[in-house]
Amino acid sequence: MRSAEVVVIGAGVIGASVAYHLARRGCGPVMVVERSRSSGEGSTGRATGGFRAQFGSEINVRLSLLSREKLWRFEEELGADPGYRPCGYLFLAGDGAQLGALLRAQGVQREAGLEEAREVTPSGIEEINPAIRTGGLVGGVFCPTDGFIRPMGILGGYVEGAGRLGVRFEYGVECTGFELDGSGRIAAVRTSGGDVVCGSVVNAAGAWAAPVAREAGLDLPVEPLRRQAAVTHPFELLPEDMPMTIFVEDGFHLRVRDGRVLLLWPDEPAVADPFDQSVEDSWLGTVVGMARERVPCLSQTSIDRERCWAGLYEMSPDGHALLGKAPGMENFYLANGSSGHGVMHAPALGQLLAEILLDGAAHTLDVHALRPSRFAEDEPNLTPTLL
Ligand SMILES: Cc1cc2nc3c(=O)[nH]c(=O)nc-3n(C[C@H](O)[C@H](O)[C@H](O)COP(=O)(O)OP(=O)(O)OC[C@H]3O[C@@H](n4cnc5c(N)ncnc54)[C@H](O)[C@@H]3O)c2cc1C
Repeated sequence: MRSAEVVVIGAGVIGASVAYHLARRGCGPVMVVERSRSSGEGSTGRATGGFRAQFGSEINVRLSLLSREKLWRFEEELGADPGYRPCGYLFLAGDGAQLGALLRAQGVQREAGLEEAREVTPSGIEEINPAIRTGGLVGGVFCPTDGFIRPMGILGGYVEGAGRLGVRFEYGVECTGFELDGSGRIAAVRTSGGDVVCGSVVNAAGAWAAPVAREAGLDLPVEPLRRQAAVTHPFELLPEDMPMTIFVEDGFHLRVRDGRVLLLWPDEPAVADPFDQSVEDSWLGTVVGMARERVPCLSQTSIDRERCWAGLYEMSPDGHALLGKAPGMENFYLANGSSGHGVMHAPALGQLLAEILLDGAAHTLDVHALRPSRFAEDEPNLTPTLL
C-alpha cells in the first residue's frame, strides 16, 4: 500500500501552495491527489486574476499583504512569473453610504498596515480611469499597489517548485473517502488509484471541499457559487494597465486582459445544480447593458460568446477562509472557503497552513479569525458588505 506523511486533496492553487510550503519546510513525503488530468481545472484556471489588499476585515488585509510580499519574491524563489502588476483597484461609490463604508474599510486597512489606499473625488476618478462615466458617482477609493496576477503562473510555480522538492502529484486520481480509526484520526485516504496510508490530510478541494469533508464525517460550511465572466472581442480603446474598476452599487467590475475587456457582475444565480458552470445569455445581455452605460466606449465592441466562461467561488458563511485543523479531528486540516479570493491569498495560506501542520500553530500571522471552529462557537467574522 502507498503511503505519505501528508496527502493534499486537490491540485488547485491552494493545494499546490500548501504542498510546496510543506516540502520547503522539510516535511516528509507529500502527495497531492487531483481528480482532473492536470492542475488548475477547478476554479484556479477560471479566475480573472485580480489582486487586492483593499478589504474590510483586518485578517483579509493582512493575508493580502503577506501574499504581496511573497509575490514580490516569487520569481527569485520559484523561477516563475506570478504576473503581479500593480495597476490598482478603483472602487466607485454612487452615494454617501457607499463612500462611507469604503472609507471605514480604509481605516481598517491602515490599522493592518496598508498605507497607500486613498480616497478619490469624481475628478480624481476621471484622471485614474478616463473611460468611466462619472455622472452619478460621489467618489471612491483607489489603491495603486492592488492590481493583477496570473493565476496559472502562480499555480505552475508552486506545482513545479513542489515537484523539485520531491512532492508527488497524482493526476486522474480522485479521493473517494477515508479510513477512520474511530478516534478522530484518518488512517488512510481512499482514492480511485488505491488507498494511501497517511500521517495527515489537507482538504484543498476548493468549491468541492464540502463533499470531500463529508466523507470524513465533517459538515463543512463551504458552498459553490457560480460566477460568470463576459469577454469582448479584441479592443484597443481601453489600456491593458487600466485598474480593476468596481461599481460598489452592484459589484459590476471590469478589467482588460490580453487585449480584451472582461466584464463581471455578481448575480444571484438561480441554478438547479449548485455546481453548474454554464454561461447564460440573459446574464450576458444584462452585463453588456451595464457596461455600455457606465463605460461609453464599450458600445464600440461586442461580446465574443465563445470566450465567455463561468466558474465557482468557494463560499464560506462569513466570506473568509477556514484555515487549520478540522474541529474534532486529529489529523484533518482545512484550507477552504476563500470565497473568491483564493488565488491572491494562496501564497499566504499555503505558508500559514504549513506552519499550523508542522509547528502546531501559525506564527507569521495571527490566524485566529480563520479558525474552522468559529461557526460552531458562534463567532464568525463580520460578513463583508462591500469589500
Ligand atoms: C470567475 C471567477 C473569477 C475569480 N477571480 C478571482 C480573482 O480575481 N482573484 C482571486 O484571488 N480569486 C479569484 N477567484 C477565486 C479563485 O479562483 C479561487 O478562490 C481559487 O482558485 C481556489 O483555489 P483552490 O485551489 O482552493 O480550488 P480549485 O482551483 O478549484 O482546486 C481544487 C481542486 O480540487 C480537485 N478536487 C475536488 N474534489 C476532489 C476529489 N474528491 N479528489 C481529488 N481532487 C478533487 C478539483 O478538481 C480542483 O482541481 C475567481 C473565481 C472565479 C470562478
